[in-house]
Order: sequence, then C-alpha cells, then structure tokens
Amino acid sequence: MNQKSPIEAKILSSNASFTEGEFAVAGMKATELAKEFGTPAFIIDEADFDLRANAFRQALENSFGERAGACYYAAKAFISIEIAKWVERAGLSLDVCTGGELEVALAAKFPPERIEFHGNNKSEAEIARAIEVGVGKIVADSEIELERINQIASAKGITQKVLIRVTPGVEAHTHQYIATAHEDVKFGFSIASGAALRAVKIGLLASNLEVGGVHFHIGSQIMGVEGFDLAIERTSAFLKSVKEEAGQELTEMVIGGGFAIAYVAGDESSDAKEVLAHLFGAVKRSAEKAEISMPRVSIEPGRAIVGLTTATLYRVGTVKKVELDNGSRNYVAVDGGMSDNIRTSLYDAEYSVALANRTSSAPLVASRVVGKHCESGDIIVRDCDLPGDLTPGDLLVTPATGAYGRSMASNYNHLPRPPVIAVRDGRARVILRRETHADLLSLEVSQEGQS
Ligand SMILES: *Cc1c(COP(=O)(O)O)cnc(C)c1O
Repeated sequence: MNQKSPIEAKILSSNASFTEGEFAVAGMKATELAKEFGTPAFIIDEADFDLRANAFRQALENSFGERAGACYYAAKAFISIEIAKWVERAGLSLDVCTGGELEVALAAKFPPERIEFHGNNKSEAEIARAIEVGVGKIVADSEIELERINQIASAKGITQKVLIRVTPGVEAHTHQYIATAHEDVKFGFSIASGAALRAVKIGLLASNLEVGGVHFHIGSQIMGVEGFDLAIERTSAFLKSVKEEAGQELTEMVIGGGFAIAYVAGDESSDAKEVLAHLFGAVKRSAEKAEISMPRVSIEPGRAIVGLTTATLYRVGTVKKVELDNGSRNYVAVDGGMSDNIRTSLYDAEYSVALANRTSSAPLVASRVVGKHCESGDIIVRDCDLPGDLTPGDLLVTPATGAYGRSMASNYNHLPRPPVIAVRDGRARVILRRETHADLLSLEVSQEGQS
C-alpha cells in the first residue's frame, strides 16, 4: 500500500492532504464533496487563501515599511463576490481590468478607493462608471485613453488619479526572461521610444488628471528575479528622466504581478518574504543610482495568492488503452476538460494529478487525462503516471487550478461551468454555483413563427 502522498505538499493548499488514499480539504473528503456538489468542481481552501493573501500584504509592508504601497489582488486570476470579500478582509486592494470585474467588486461592497482599474481598451462607459464610483486609480494605457479619462473626469468635475503603464522592454515567462529595447506588445507606453515620457507629459498637462506614478507588469509565472531587477532599473532611470525633463518627481511604482507557483514536482513557488525583501533592495539600489527619491511600491499578485488554494475534482468516465510504437498509454477521460482548464491546451501548462477517492496498489501506468470536448487538444494533464486500475466512477484531483481556471472557463460544447466550493474547518459551501443547461438556454432568443 502506497501511504505516501501522491502529490507533494508544495503543490497543495495548506489544509489539503491525502489520508488513506483519499484527497481531503480542511476535513472534507473528496467523496463527500463529490456526492454533495457533483463533479467537476473547484474546491477552494478558504483559510489557505487568507494565509497567502496576508503573506503577500505583510511581506510588502515589512520589506518596504513606509514606502509600501498597496498589495493589489489581481482579480483576473479569479474573482467572485465572496472572493472580493476575502480580499477586503485580508486588507488587500484590488486590481480589476474590465467593467465586469469592477461590478463584482462593487457588488461585494469593496471600497472603491482601494480599486485600481487596468486594461488596454477601457470603454467610455467603463471609465465613466469607474470615475463615478470613485476608484482609486486608473492605469492609462494609450494617449487616446489619457484624453478619454481626462474628458470624462472634467465633465464630472473630478480630478482622477492615474498611473502611466510603461513597458520597460522586459518580458518574463517561467525560467526565461527576454530583454529588448522595444517591446512588440499591445500594453503600455514604451520607455525606450520616448512614448512613456510623452504620456507622462500629457498626463501632467491634462486639466483633470493627477499622475501618481508608473506601472509595469512583465509577465506571468516568473521564476527568479532577474526580469524584475532589470525592469526596476529601467523604470527608475525613466523616473529620473521624468524628473529632469518634465520637472516632476513621480512617487509611485507598481511592479505588477507574475510571481510563480509550483504546479509540478520540479517547480518552486515564490516565497513572498524572500521575493519582497529582494525587490526592496532592487528598488532602493536603482533609486539611488538614478538619484531619485525611493518610490512607494505596490504589487499585484494574482496566481501566487489564489493558484494553490484550489483543486479541481473530476469523475472518471472512460479509460481507454491506446497502443503506441513504444508501449501504450491510458487515456483517462473525465467529466470536464478544456472548458474548465484551458491552460494546458493554450500554453502547454503542466499539472499534477492523482486518484482522489481510494488507495490503489496497482502499478502506475503512462496516462493522459483528457476531457469530454470534441477536440483532440482537449487535454488536462498531458503526461502522468496513474494507477493502472482506474475505473469509471473514480475521482481524480488536479491541484493548483485556482488561478485562471474558473476565470478562463468557457461553455464550449455547451458544458455548464463548474461550481466553486469553499471549504473551511470541515464545512463546505457553494460560493459560485454550477451553471445549468437552463442558464445556457436562457440566453437564446428565438422568435415564434420563424424558422
Ligand atoms: C495578469 C496581471 C497580473 C497578475 O498576474 P499573476 O501572474 O496572476 O500574478 C497583475 N497585473 C497585471 C497588470 C496583469 O495583467
């Protein structure tokens, strides 16, 4: 009997475990959860969310002291009214990037002054709503948008605080970072081309804008700190040129999110304390070198807070052995797929997976976990070893699905999106219910007498 946890603790939420082969979160067993809430389902460990949110906020405050800005939770990783309330109670601020995310925050009574509004193409209606409700900051992404924000703010007789999103020419993904002078991306104003300086000047001259500082975000699932270091150095040098050429010292620097988490055995999650202590040093050195005052620094972690809090439970429907040139592979099909986890097909993302409802002494066999969509690319875990005796009705768990899982979920093939179940101290509750066929049909408009 294999009593060792089939998935390392670093890939699980802090209250998740395998006890006698059965996956459990905060005292609720996989079989109980599946029976009560059905599958597939996202199971979120509420206390773990609090822990990670507080860890990032405290690490920012402890490392930066009086130069600590806000720890913004990046809503796009996963937001719902309940999550917005958790973010609020942990003392974090909130980064939203559409009118829809903003409405969720407002429905949760999230304090608007702690909201930062992102996005590269905010509509007039979105900007008007944001200004009306009093969001703390709008991050401007183009000259057209600076003008749009200024016009709407002046029509309302309000001065709106804005940040200028800059591109420092650094792009970071997982183990690599790419440094160029110019970035061929849709976001932000290039520092190297002079566009960023022009944007700051436009903002400073605008009648109803207050330019608070600059923002950058260099990528996602960033391991290591080299990319951050270079972006901070270039942005500090940029702040120096703003001081010299626009005659104004900007005091805020938002250094984005992108802190990595562990999805599979070889990965390591960013340690909030370590990363922020490092970033403090990097900002301090760069500010001294550029001869500018130490800016107030904010961060925007999404994945690093919510990613590991959540695991997806699936039920096995079929198991098919496919013969290959060099052996065979078990295709294990579950009751979800690319509609609840697009990351594997979209980015070749890797996940861990384990049998969740029992122990098995069957030898492990080469397996692939697939969904039920009409696509060959509908793969949840490309290569894994699972017990050879998997059978219809078994439960599988894929941990670390909290970020960009439910938030990127779709209705492809008219599959209703799974619920999100919060578990704490042995009690489970639905925080986002399962979609139904009736929900999907409710969008249909079909006129009588037409065909
Ligand atoms: C996506 C995004 C984040 C969060 O990224 P994570 O990888 O989830 O930490 C933060 N800030 C901005 C501007 C983003 O676009």
